[in-house]
Parts: sequence; C-alpha cells; structure tokens
Amino acid sequence: MTPSARGPDAIELRRVALPLVAPFRTATGAHQTVEKVLIRWIAGDGEGWGECPVGLGPGSVSSVDAVWSLLLHALDAAPPALPAPAAAALEVARLDAELRAAGVSLAVHLGATRDTVDAGVAVGIAPTLEALLTEVERRREEGYRRVKLKIEPGWDVEPVAAVRERLGAEFPLHVDGNSAYRLADAAQLAQLDRFGLLMIEQPLPVDDLDGHAALARQLRTPVCLDESISSLAVLERALGLGACSIVNVKPARLGGVIAAREVHDRCRERGVPVWCGGMLETGVGRAVNVALAALPGFTLAGDLSASDRYFAVDLTPSFVLEDGRLRVPRGSGIGVDVLPDVLADVTTAIEVVRPGA
Ligand code: MG
Repeated sequence: MTPSARGPDAIELRRVALPLVAPFRTATGAHQTVEKVLIRWIAGDGEGWGECPVGLGPGSVSSVDAVWSLLLHALDAAPPALPAPAAAALEVARLDAELRAAGVSLAVHLGATRDTVDAGVAVGIAPTLEALLTEVERRREEGYRRVKLKIEPGWDVEPVAAVRERLGAEFPLHVDGNSAYRLADAAQLAQLDRFGLLMIEQPLPVDDLDGHAALARQLRTPVCLDESISSLAVLERALGLGACSIVNVKPARLGGVIAAREVHDRCRERGVPVWCGGMLETGVGRAVNVALAALPGFTLAGDLSASDRYFAVDLTPSFVLEDGRLRVPRGSGIGVDVLPDVLADVTTAIEVVRPGA
C-alpha cells in the first residue's frame, strides 16, 4: 500500500516540556524536564503526529530554536534542509496522517512480524554503587528483559561487576560508552569481557570507525554502533571495516522511519542483529519505535521502556509492561492518540504553518 502523496493543509508546531520522574543524565548534562518539538500534520479532516527530540546529544537537535525557524519554512516551495531528527518527525507526522486516512497501522506498513516487543531499560550513571544496584533491582522486578548500563572512565569495571553479580550470569546485560573512551582504553575495556555482556555500545567517538574496528579486534565483547551510524553509506563502511557486529537503529538519528527500515533491511541481509534505541520518547515517538522494533531483524531487546520509566503523565495513553514486553500498536497510523488535556498542559509555544503562506 502506498499512502497518497497529498500535501498538508497546514502543519502545527508545538514546543512542549515534560517533567521527568527522575533526573536523566546525558552527555549534555542532567535533565529534569525533556523538551520536544511536536509536529501535527493537518490534512482534510485528518491529522498525524511526529516528535523531534531536543537537547539529548547526537541524534537529537541541539535546541528548539535550532529547528523552529527551519520548520516554519518546511512547507515552502523550496523548503530548507532539516536536521535528521526534524526530518524524521515531519516524515512520521505525514505518514501517520496518511496511514490513518487509509486505515493502516504503521506497524503493518513497515512490515512488522510481531505483536509484542521485548522491553529493555537504560540505567544511567548513579551517584553510588548501592544506588545503581537498587535501580537495577527495581528494573528487574518491573519485568524488563534486558538492562543497559551507561559507563564512562572511572565508572565501568566495578559497577558492571557488581551488577553482574546481582543479576546473575544469565541476565541480558550490555553497556553503552556514549563515546567516552579512546582506543588507548582498550585494555581497560577488555576487562569487561569476563562479564558476558551482550555488547559494548559506541565506546569511541562518532567519526572513529577505524578505532572501533581496531577495538573490536581486541575485545571478545561485541561492539555495537549507535551515533556513528547516521546513514546507509556509513553503515556499509562500518560493516566493511569490521567496526561493529550489532547496530542500534534510531529513526531520529537516521532522518526517518523509512531510512531506519532500510538500515534494518541491510543489516538483516548481512546477518547483523539490530535493536531499537530511544531518546526519552513520549508515547508519540515510542509508538513509532515499538512498531519499528516489531520487524524481524530486531532480534535484541531495545531501549523500549514503559511510559512510567520517564514520565508521570505521558502525551498518549501510557505504554505499560506486560510480562516484560510492550504491545505493538495496531490501530491506524502510529496507533495511539495524543491526549488533548496533557498536550495543553505541556505546550509552551504553538505556531501554525500553511503552504505558500
Ligand atoms: Mg547509545
């Protein structure tokens, strides 16, 4: 099925700020709230929604201001080039509207083969080992099927050893370096080999594919790339070099859900497992990620958490864990509806853009 290519009557841009249930630390600092740009694609009686992550490092836009003015011209005859996360949000909003009008779910449109997806959870760098173990224990009790630990120099072997001991040898565990290491740290990272980790994700800088290839040769733990994989071309280069044997797929980083599916398809042809990463999505972005993660090549649990991992109140009806899994939305479009009252509460600015206006 090919949705109609009809243009919108308008798009509505919304700047929203959602409080987090607990501070979340990323490369850009500790966040108490998370900002997003929401795009509402309005066509005829229908509409669709997309979500652009903001201020969360590579794969998000640096600030709302950085994309707002570009998006104001997104419907011009010669629209400006958008950064990947904003292009992805616009694509999803359009697809959501078109698929709702056609009565088709995004999951079916993408080629999903599962009704549920395994939920994994990311655990940030904690103030103490005891706090880390408390959180990990809580996540296991909630039912998460995989835990990922953020690591950095000074917070790696000791916390991983403690968590491995607490969870037992069989529990699926992986680590994410978020580019905090250099190739010179290879001996330190090799000490993680004894913990039976699923992978080490993005240990080195984004543009250092050669370094990742050299590191992969020195580790038994498989290397996964996240931020490095910004396009199919980079993927081909990374696989050719042996820079990774697992890929984290994020629609926002790749410029859209269709590009994300292409990366999935290519990895599947090459026998490379993929999983779906996250960027503190609200229900809008989470619905997209869950649909994508239902494709057959997503053989590892993603960073696909329940709404309450981040938000007391989500923008859509909450995603909840059912036996450690999330249900793939099967309604038309992204399959979830934005809650008007919540949306009104979290909106801090609105602009409506019309074609040729
Ligand atoms: Mg990552």
